[in-house]
Order: sequence, then structure tokens, then C-alpha cells
Amino acid sequence: MADNPAFIPVNEPLLNGNEKKYLNECIDTGWISSEGPFIREFEEKFSKRCHRTHGIAVSNGSVALDAAVMALDLEKGSEVIMPAFTIISCAAAIVRAGLVPVLVDADPVTWNMNVHDIEKKITSKTKAIMVVHIYGLPVDMDPVLKLARTNGLKIIEDAAEMHGQTYKGRPCGSFGDISIFSFYPNKHITTGEGGMIVTDNEELAEKCRSLRNLCFMPMRRFVHETLGYNFRMTNLQAALGLAQLERLDEFVIRKRNMGRLYNELLVNLQGFQGPSAYAGTDENIYWVYGLVSLDKGRDAISCMKQLANAGVGTRPFFYPMHLQPVFQRMGLFKGESYPVAEMLAEQGFYIPSGMALTEDQIREVARRLQAEFA
Ligand SMILES: *Cc1c(COP(=O)(O)O)cnc(C)c1O
Repeated sequence: MADNPAFIPVNEPLLNGNEKKYLNECIDTGWISSEGPFIREFEEKFSKRCHRTHGIAVSNGSVALDAAVMALDLEKGSEVIMPAFTIISCAAAIVRAGLVPVLVDADPVTWNMNVHDIEKKITSKTKAIMVVHIYGLPVDMDPVLKLARTNGLKIIEDAAEMHGQTYKGRPCGSFGDISIFSFYPNKHITTGEGGMIVTDNEELAEKCRSLRNLCFMPMRRFVHETLGYNFRMTNLQAALGLAQLERLDEFVIRKRNMGRLYNELLVNLQGFQGPSAYAGTDENIYWVYGLVSLDKGRDAISCMKQLANAGVGTRPFFYPMHLQPVFQRMGLFKGESYPVAEMLAEQGFYIPSGMALTEDQIREVARRLQAEFA
């Protein structure tokens, strides 16, 4: 497919700012490991951007979730409420910490967790809610914050897809007791691989810094009271991150313009549900531009095959947690069903929506979609 010049890939990052300049600085100075100066600078600037006091840069978003959950130090066997419709990393972090994930279904319009289902899942064992903002639209946080407050629950916020997004004007990533981001190349800003934990809590921040660096003791290096990990980010990654962060505002505008243009061009495409343009007053940042086939006889797999033949790159939606073979084998989620998450996995996919996508490419994708599904 790569040698077909007309093929439009699902994602390409945009790296034409100061990326090369800062990377050259790393090479010229020899600072390529996690000891380099760009890491602190990236942590400070990024955490400030989402109104947090601490930022802990790590090697990817998945381990950011692992460290965030571990740092909360919840009693083993405690329950954490989370969406059924998300990436495996969320449930994996909970399970690996010896905790029990408890699922809520997705909302059919926003594709985010249905916050009105949370309350009935709260038991005496519930200790936290993991909120995951899906595909560019913020979760309705007010009811979640209220439930957390009245029930004494912690909030873990997965803002991996939400750089630069807000909920009621306040930055995503500022709502959790502890919050995380990913900088994978398809996210709004990228470091190749990378992630960040942000928090206002000094103790949680210290725990995450320690977990990131093998839990070295401050007094005597190579003596350990706890087992940690090497979750460190390199100076090379932070160099990319700083250059990308300089353009975050521009990138958010760019993505919103892409989403609006798709909305406009696809308004007459029959048989598909597109993303919601708004959650309240906050406009979607279209991390990816998703489509859900409303025709049960035409599922995501068949649409994606058809589009691949037409030269349009796609990816399927997430696969629900309760149907994951790995969790079923552990005996989790037995007999549970989450019809919206199941429908989204069956019928949903996303079309080219990377940062480097051009207006001409968007018009071409829309034209091919119309031609295929008219
Ligand atoms: C991308 C993503 C992650 C994981 O980030 P990686 O850097 O790929 O490990 C976690 N949660 C959500 C919601 C994501 O979209």
C-alpha cells in the first residue's frame, strides 16, 4: 500500500518546528539519557500548561498509568470504576496493582463513559474512579467530581488523548488526584514514545519519581526498600516534546479545523454516526475522527476493508474490556454486558486524522467515502 502514492495514511505526525534544533543540541552536548536538561524543562512547561504543580516524564502513557495507580497505594482488592470502552492500558494498570476493575458502559453519543452509571457501581470496596477522555471529547466531570467527593474516592484521570483540551474551560489533566498523558506519535503532541504523570500532590509526585527510577533511595544509591521500574524518559524524547509543546495551541486549532471540515464534507454521508462536535461548551479536539456504521449488516471490518481498497487508511475502535480474553481467563467481568461498548467495537473505526493531514487529503478522503458508501 505504501507504494501507492494516492494512499492516505491514518496518521502522520508534524515535526517541522524546533524538533531538529533541540535534538541537535542533545547530540552536540552529549545529553541523550534521562539525565539531560530538557526533561525538567518539559516537565515544568507541560505541567504548567495543564495547571498542575508536578510533572513526571516517563517512557510512555501506559507506564504512566501503572505508576499513577501504584502511587495511590490502594488496599489490594479495592475496586476501581472505569469505562468498558478504552485501551487495555487502563485496566492493565488496575489489575497489575492488585485491584479490581469495575466497568461502566459508554455513552452512545459522546463515546465517553456514561457518568450516570457510576453511582450504582459504587460498593464499600470502591476506592477510585479512573476517568478516560475518549477521542477528543472531555468526560462530563462535574458529576464524577461530586461522586468522588461524597464517597471519598480518588480520581485517576487518563488524558492521553486530550492535550490542550478543556472541560468547562479548565484543562483536561487538571481533574485527577493524579492524571496522565501519552506522547505516542498519533497524540496531539509526540515524543515518539513517551508519557507524563501530572499532579498537585507532592507525595504522589515523589512516589512516581521513585517508581520511575528503580526506587533508588536518596541516602544510599543501590539500596532499595521497594521495587521500582525503569520508566525514564530520555533527553532526546523531551527535546521533541518541548518543540511540540511550543505548537500545542496551533495543533489544537489545526485538529479542530480538520474535524469541522470532515463534519461539513460528510454531513450527507448516510448510514454513519460521526463524532459529537461539542461536550457542553468545549469543542471536540478530534484526537481521531471516528465513524460508527449504523447498518448492522455493514460492520467496521467490512468498511475498513473497503476503504483500504479505496486507498484510505483506517483503524478500528477500542475493544471492550469485558470481552478481552486475558481478563476472561482471569475470571473477570463474568456474564457482564456493555451493549454500547460492544456496538462501538463492532461498528466503529476512524479515518485519517493525523496532525500532518492536509486539507486536500481531507477532501479526498471525504470524496472516497461518499463514492464507497453512497
Ligand atoms: C494512547 C493511550 C494510552 C497509552 O499511551 P502509550 O503511550 O501508547 O502507552 C493510554 N490511554 C489512552 C486513552 C490512550 O489513548
